[in-house]
Formats: sequence, C-alpha cells, structure tokens
Amino acid sequence: MHPIIIIGNGIAGVTAAREIRKLDSEVPILMISGETDHHFSRTALMYIFMGHMKYENTKPYEDFFWSKNRIDLLRGWVKTIDHKSNQIVMANGEKLDYKELVLAVGSTPNKFGWPGQDLPGAQGLYSKQDLDNLEESAKTAKRAVITGGGLIGIEMAEMLLTRGIPVTFLVREKLFWGSVLPKEEAVMIEKHVREHHCDLRMGEELDSIHEGENGRVAYVTTKKGERIDCEIVGLTAGVRPNTLWLSGNEELEMDRGIMIDHYFQTNLPNVWSVGDCAQFTDPLPGRRPLEQVWYTGKMHGAHLAQNLVGERKAYDPGIWWNSAKFFDIEYQTYGIVMPQPMEGEETFFWQAAEGYHTIRINFDADTLIVKGVNVFGMRHRHQVWEHWLATKAEMPEVMANLVAANFDPEFFKRHEQSIVESWNREYPEHQVTLNTTIKKGLFSKLLRSLQPSS
Ligand SMILES: Cc1cc2nc3c(=O)[nH]c(=O)nc-3n(C[C@H](O)[C@H](O)[C@H](O)COP(=O)(O)OP(=O)(O)OC[C@H]3O[C@@H](n4cnc5c(N)ncnc54)[C@H](O)[C@@H]3O)c2cc1C
Repeated sequence: MHPIIIIGNGIAGVTAAREIRKLDSEVPILMISGETDHHFSRTALMYIFMGHMKYENTKPYEDFFWSKNRIDLLRGWVKTIDHKSNQIVMANGEKLDYKELVLAVGSTPNKFGWPGQDLPGAQGLYSKQDLDNLEESAKTAKRAVITGGGLIGIEMAEMLLTRGIPVTFLVREKLFWGSVLPKEEAVMIEKHVREHHCDLRMGEELDSIHEGENGRVAYVTTKKGERIDCEIVGLTAGVRPNTLWLSGNEELEMDRGIMIDHYFQTNLPNVWSVGDCAQFTDPLPGRRPLEQVWYTGKMHGAHLAQNLVGERKAYDPGIWWNSAKFFDIEYQTYGIVMPQPMEGEETFFWQAAEGYHTIRINFDADTLIVKGVNVFGMRHRHQVWEHWLATKAEMPEVMANLVAANFDPEFFKRHEQSIVESWNREYPEHQVTLNTTIKKGLFSKLLRSLQPSS
C-alpha cells in the first residue's frame, strides 16, 4: 500500500513527489501516468519535432532517479476515484488504496464540437501521443490548417513550416492572442508570423473538417465558406483542465478545474490537486483561478508537499511572470499587463524603429508605481523586475536604471538610451538620465536586497 498516490507525472506531480521525498525519506509514494513511463518536459515537444532534441533529452531526470529515490512508478490510466473507500480504480480494474491522493492530471486541448474533429489528422498538441501522431501525419501532408491563435498554435505553425508544410492559420479574433496582448504587440506578432510565410488569417474561423477516401482529414471549410485542402488540422484553441474522466465523481467539487483552497486541498478529505487541472476557489489578488504554466505547476507541487508532510503553509506565488517565443521573437512579462490598461493605470510603450523590439510598462497614473512590463525582442532579468515590483518602484527609478534589467548577449544592440529618450519626450516633468555606469554593481545590489534578512 502507498500512503501517497499521485496521479500525473507532469511538472506538478513530479515536483510534489520529489519535495515529499526530501521532507520524508520513508513514506512510500506511487506516481501514476497513462502518458509516458517517465516525466519529460512538455514545453520541449516542439524541439523534438524540429530535430533540435531527442525525446530522451527532454527527461530532466535519469530513469534510475525514481527507484533511487524510492518513488514508485506505474504506467496506466486511472478510471475513477472512490473517495469513500480511499481507493482509485485503474482502467484494467485494479484497485489501489491511498491515504492521501494528489490529482495532478494536467490539461487537454479544447475541442468545440467541430464536425470531423476526431478524424485522423485532426489533433491538438499536448501529449507525447500527439507528437507521435503529428510525426506520422507530417510524412505525407501537403498543407496544414491550424485553428486558434495562442502560444501552442504558433509553435505548431513553426514546427510544420520547418518541415516545408505550408500552414494556413485561422484565428477567430481580430488581434493575435488578443486576450493577453495589447494591440501594438499583437500586430507586431502578426507581421512576424506572415514574414515566416505562414498564411495567417485574422478574424476567420474553422467551421468543419471533412474526410477523404482514405478516412483521414481531406479539407476544412471556414465560417466564410472557403474550402481549404489539407491533411493536418491543428486544434490549438487553448486547453482546459483534464477533468472529464472525473465526471462520475459527483462529490468532487469542480468548475472549469478541480476546486482547491490555498493549501491545494479539494473539498474531499485527503484529496489534493495541483498544476494545470487545479482551480483556486478564491484566487489571490491579481491572479487567475487557473494557472496553466510550467513554473506555477512546479510551485504548486512544492507547496503541496510542504502541506502534506511538513508545516502547513498557504500558497504565495510572488509576482506573476511568463515567457514564450513567437518564431524568432522572445517575450517576457512580469507583473500584470492587461490588453488595455486597468483603471487608474497609464501605459508607456516603446518600439524600435527597426526589428522586433518593444517594451511596455504599465504604471499607476498618480503615484508612477510600476505594475507590470511586457518585453519583446530583448531579455530582461527576472530578479530585477521582481525587485522593482515588490518594492513598488516608481517609473523614474526604473527608467534611470533600465540597463540593470537587460541581459541580452554581448554585441546585441542596446535600446535603453532610445527608450529613456522616448520616456523623457512623453513625460518631460519626470525626465531621467540613463545610468550606464553601474550595471553590474546595481544588479548585485538589487540581488543582495532580495536575500531574506537573517
Ligand atoms: C506544446 C506546449 C508548449 C508549452 N510551452 C510552455 C512554455 O513555454 N512555458 C510554460 O510556462 N508553459 C508551457 N506549456 C504549459 C505547460 O507545459 C503546462 O502548464 C504544464 O506542463 C502542466 O503540468 P501539469 O503537471 O499540471 O500537467 P501535465 O504535464 O499535463 O501532466 C499530467 C499528466 O497526468 C496524466 N494523466 C491525466 N489523467 C490521467 C489519468 N486518469 N490516469 C493516469 N494519468 C493521467 C497525463 O497523461 C499527463 O501525463 C506548454 C504546453 C504545451 C502543450
């Protein structure tokens, strides 16, 4: 019997298992997954397809790590949970007892009931199986249609284009990733996507997917009535918590995800949930109820372990941040930047005359305190922005010390002078001089000030 069973070997489940083991060297732990024998980095799926990495290289731990750390692994699908008898039931009928159960079952691609959505050739990009299916379809595909303009859609477009498969990209919204990006950034990304010879269609929607004589996808029709011949249809209109298989468990409180408190506890005794599938009943200020990114999954897992076998502690994720890549443009965000400034906020936006480099900083219109930043085409240090956001730094301080945030590789063109000149033009009453001399000193000072005082 395993007192702790974790369903899911993604980043959330794996971090929970590792951190539990660090805190308790004895307690037997079982981690179950239907997807793969071992944990791998989902974020690297695209690099396997593009030949930059092999699947083996995406496993952060050697296969012997698990037995060495006495974390037992079971490959298989869990069919249901029976919380009254503290048991889970596997698809093969086997029953396993638990004392504490962790649901770390991740997400699944959205499907909105499109006719033909389950035909071979139509697929999301989430699992290792999805990658294998795409690999198979790509062997003979002459064109692909991708629907849904977000981060996974753009990854899939890049993947297929590297194999010489032309891509038509249908995005229902008027602006690319418009629920997250402000207009200027969205328009810049659209331009960049088109430059990569991707047939991007904004404001166009998939209507239905049609079968060919071989029983596979042959063409799609759009809502405007156009027919597009294709052998692959990428269904990348977002993901949702992978909870359908739990629908028989009526007593488990669920909304879009599995409802949890700030200790990752569900409404059922001894049942916990972390990662993409977990939804906070009472989200922290400025945070969303669902946090479906890698680093939050890791944080969830670590906090849960603490609550299960250590001192009980409420979740405190610190500032929100995220990073991604749109073909060649790197993107980072720290703090909160909504597509439109929130009430009482102002936005400072700078864009390079050439190339794809932008920065947007939102700040309080009265106090000038920074609220969040979007950076495209430049690399900004997490610790520096975390410091500015945590210490409620004001815009003149940030502008004057902007050099400290940048960690672009050597010989990359620096834009801070131009950014500050633009700030000085727009806000002459808050003019600053760019501090170019104490880059390293300032950075280490900032870092030192982030150390917890002892
Ligand atoms: C292509 C792609 C690119 C991404 N890129 C980024 C990125 O750049 N940055 C970022 O922050 N995030 C990125 N993400 C999101 C990030 O990968 C997820 O937020 C994270 O992997 C979720 O981790 P998790 O542990 O919650 O769940 P998952 O990684 O989904 O793990 C859950 C596991 O549980 C298994 N499982 C589910 N149900 C059962 C069951 N009933 N029985 C047995 N096993 C079950 C699943 O098969 C899966 O293996 C990306 C996601 C994708 C798909």
